[in-house]
Amino acid sequence: MVSPGELRLVNKLTEKESFEPEITDTGAVSYPDVTQLLDDADGKPADVLEHFASRDVLAGEFVSKVYICPECTTEGLQYTTVCPACEAPNATETLVLEHACGYAGPELEFDAGDKYHCPDCEMELQSEDVDETTRYVCNECTEIADVPDERLWCRECFSIIQTLAAIERVLYRYSLSPTGKQWLSRQKDARQTIAEALEERRFEIEIDMTVTTEATSQSVHVFAEDSMMGDQRVVGIYETPDTDRVDEFCEIANSLEAHPIVITTSGTVEEDVTARAESAELTLLAFDGDGTLTTEYDTVGSDKQGFLQRLTAAIDVPVRERQ
Ligand SMILES: [Zn+2]
Ligand SMILES: [Zn+2]
Ligand SMILES: [Zn+2]
Repeated sequence: MVSPGELRLVNKLTEKESFEPEITDTGAVSYPDVTQLLDDADGKPADVLEHFASRDVLAGEFVSKVYICPECTTEGLQYTTVCPACEAPNATETLVLEHACGYAGPELEFDAGDKYHCPDCEMELQSEDVDETTRYVCNECTEIADVPDERLWCRECFSIIQTLAAIERVLYRYSLSPTGKQWLSRQKDARQTIAEALEERRFEIEIDMTVTTEATSQSVHVFAEDSMMGDQRVVGIYETPDTDRVDEFCEIANSLEAHPIVITTSGTVEEDVTARAESAELTLLAFDGDGTLTTEYDTVGSDKQGFLQRLTAAIDVPVRERQ
């Protein structure tokens, strides 16, 4: 299935280098440009992009990783060292004196104004009795540590987080791949070809049109109207039409009182779709490699089925009965 929104998305990359990721307030990866291009029914932009990347239509390129606060979903956690005993960040590198008696403490504790005394044994300090080291001294508890613990902290909610507890998001940018260029032109050619074929039959054509029904607002690839005859057609472009999608599309067509035309750009359809086409619920056409529409298509998992109907006959379905 190629939705009008998806085609719009891929087509945008012919004029724009790439879609760049952003992080939203809720910590999700978003692609604002893509959101605007897609219709609601297309789903999440990141999923659509990933889907096309997995099919090689788009090239996904690693940008970076960002880390999200698990408490409040804010992006951009900060690194901090903390006291290994009480986890307070208020443990700072401090000059620590260790007296020969075994007592160790920050230099300040030994400073008696005029002279230096050990606060524990009260002896006056002699330089040979003292070891000076720089260590982490906790200002919240009595811990003195050679190496502090490492954490992340959130600028928004001030949570202290274990480094591995941060939510990691991988950011990708997406651009059009060489395969994607071919894919795109095939879908667009299919759309253009059916639009022209309908136009020749005196239909007025609207490409990528938003149609509004009672329930939803929806885009269709081509909307064709012969106002003289009161005849309307809608076109769905599919790579390999499957029953569910086709049924959905027929429903939309129905609500618009338009006859559905389904085009397969791969030349194949799923088996059940053929039955629907035979029952004249819909017109099924294949867009082949040399740029023409035909009524011959393959069925997935079965032998080629040919229809002797000519294209003209297929497009010139009878005018629908109006209620
Ligand atoms: Zn937070
Ligand atoms: Zn502490
Ligand atoms: Zn001492």
